[in-house]
Formats: sequence, C-alpha cells, structure tokens
Amino acid sequence: MAGKSRIYFDYNASAPLLDDARAAMIAVMDIDANPSSVHAEGRKARAVVKKARRQVAALVNANPDHVVFTSGATEAAALALTPHYSMGRAPVNMSRLYVCAADHPCTLEGGSFRAEDRMLFPVRDNGLVDLPALEQVVALHDHAAGLPLVVCHFANNETGVIQPVDEISRLVKANRGVFVVDAVQAAGRLPIDISTGFADYLILSSHKIGGPKGAGALVAFSDLLMPMPLIRGGGQERGHRSGTESPVNLAGFGQAAEHALNSMDEWQDVAHLRDQLEEGIREVAPTSVFYAQGEKRLPNTIFFSLPGMKAETLQIALDLDGFATSPGSACSSGKVGASHVLAAMGVQSGEGAIRLSLGLGNSAADVSDFLQKFAKIAERAASGE
Ligand code: PLP
Repeated sequence: MAGKSRIYFDYNASAPLLDDARAAMIAVMDIDANPSSVHAEGRKARAVVKKARRQVAALVNANPDHVVFTSGATEAAALALTPHYSMGRAPVNMSRLYVCAADHPCTLEGGSFRAEDRMLFPVRDNGLVDLPALEQVVALHDHAAGLPLVVCHFANNETGVIQPVDEISRLVKANRGVFVVDAVQAAGRLPIDISTGFADYLILSSHKIGGPKGAGALVAFSDLLMPMPLIRGGGQERGHRSGTESPVNLAGFGQAAEHALNSMDEWQDVAHLRDQLEEGIREVAPTSVFYAQGEKRLPNTIFFSLPGMKAETLQIALDLDGFATSPGSACSSGKVGASHVLAAMGVQSGEGAIRLSLGLGNSAADVSDFLQKFAKIAERAASGE
C-alpha cells in the first residue's frame, strides 16, 4: 500500500478537524436563527449552544454555567488578564499580573495590564516553573493595592512539559492570589478537573482538540468573581462576552470536547509512537539535543535541535519530504522567531529547535516514514552539505 502523501506532525499548532466535529457542524449549519431570539427557531439555535456548553464543561468537570465562549484562547486570555474584576456589583482590583516567562504570547502580552504592573516569573533549565522564585515574587505582593493575578500554562506548547499546577496553585492561594491556567495544550490530552479549585479560570481552545478554529472558552471555577467584560453589547454569555454566538463553531467545539473526553486513553498509544520517534531520531543523529527530557511531558511532543542544521532549514527539508512540523513557535505571519521558551530555559541554541507534535491520527507507519527521510537529512547535515 502506498504511504500517505503528507504526514501531519503539528497537532500543537492545530489539530485536524475531527470527523464527528465536522458532522456536528454540518448538522446545524441550516439553523438560521439567532440563539438569543425567543421564537422556536431561536430556541433551536440556543439548544445547540447549550449542548456545546455542557460538552465543553464536561471536559474539565466544570459547571456549564461557568463557561464563557469566546473567539479562541487568545480572546479568553485577554478577557481574564485584566485588573478589573467584579464580585456581584462590587469591583475587585487585580493590582499586578505575574506571568510565566515560558507562557504563550497570548498571556505573555499581559492582557490589559500596564507594563509596569506586569512581572515575569522564571522557569528552570528543564522548563518547569521555578517555584521558590515564584513564591518569592508573590510573597512580596502589596495587598494594599489589590490582589495578585497569576497566569501560567498547564502544558507548554513547544516543549510539552507539564507544569506542577497544583503546587503553583497552593502557592498562589497561600498568598491570596487568583490563578488563571492556560490549559490549551493540556485539554483533551490530560485529565483536568476544575472542580478541585486548583484554578480559578481555565483558558481553552477548540482547534487544539479537533474542533474548528475561531472558538474557545474561559471557564471559571465559580462565577462569583468574574473579569469585567472585554466586549460589551447585547449581553450574550450572561453578559461576560457580548456578540452573537456561532452555533456552527460551538457545535464543533462541543463535539470535539466530548470526543476528547472519551478518547483520553488513546493518548497512551500516541506516547508510545512519540517514544519510538524520539529513540529513532537519537539513533540516526546521536548528537541531537532534546529539551525538557526526563520531565513529565505531553504524550505527543518532541522538541529538539539537530546540530549543524538550522531548525528552519530542517523544517523546510521535512516539508519538502511531506512532513508538517514547526520550528519553535509559528508566529501569526508565518515567520519564525527565536524560541522565547528556550530563551526562558536559558538554552542557547544557534540552530533553534524543531517541534514534532503528534496526534490520534498518526500511525507507526508515519513514524518509520519520518525516520527514513530524517536519516537522509541528518546525513546531509553531518556532512555539512
Ligand atoms: N495558549 C497556548 C498554550 C497555545 O498553544 C495557543 C496556540 O498556539 C494559544 C494559547 C492560543 O490559542 P488560539 O489560537 O485559540 O487563540
């Protein structure tokens, strides 16, 4: 049997749309009404949004009423990262934002906090949050000015490293802080239970779990304390995010969330493929440098440098050979910047690093196909061609 013409190893950038998510979207595409309308057609559209809310809530064991749908994770981050919160009608001020230095740019940019009210906390050379350093900065927080708001990723999109979110949470709570967790890469791949209260808010993205692009959510542990809305208008999403919801996108997001919840065990197979891939790369190119090795990582991610070949060159060579991979993090423009995650880990790699991120659609044949082609590229790199 002939192999696939293209092999996709870029699930951390975006997962292919799942068949059942596509079917769920197609099934509601002809519902024309506005989900806020009170007539029968409107109620039908509203039922689609309600089902999606239940499905997304179930993925992280949340109360469906605490799910605020947004246009994606970036918007959910922008909503959460504001100094202005309210508890009922009473305003609550977050006076300083503490952001992990290895976070995704959507939180690293600091939302609507002024530059002087933001502070980065470091990771160690293995990519894990430096807990004593975080404790030190949060302990110095001036509570007279307001509460500390802390944001950190659950799993890193480049290295795949899984942060000790429970420990971070304990530390934040001990200092009377509010904790926002960017769970975009962890959702659907690791069990997440917001009902334990480890996070005050979770940021989720549809397209990383096999739903459509353009949908995401901010999920709250409790809706007593909520950020002031970023987008005001018709009062949709219980006033937390105005603008007519997209039943089509949300049907896909909801179905993808349900699929993810039901297929969590399958990621063990992906971890097995990932380990084979990693071993194979090491055999073919023993000088390769792997990042966040030995730490708990997502089951699907490899981040490595090939000495003698720039990551961009390697990515282009792999693309020409039929493999979709990412050098460092892909910027919106398609250009490739130096990895701020590696920089935060104190890694100086002239070549940069390449990320292979697998998913449930990959097979052992994909791995052996990759290793065959990679061996030729690594040979060229070693001979300086
Ligand atoms: N957070 C993390 C960890 C991500 O990997 C990404 C996307 O790469 C985002 C946030 C942004 O997600 P979205 O594309 O839904 O805005």
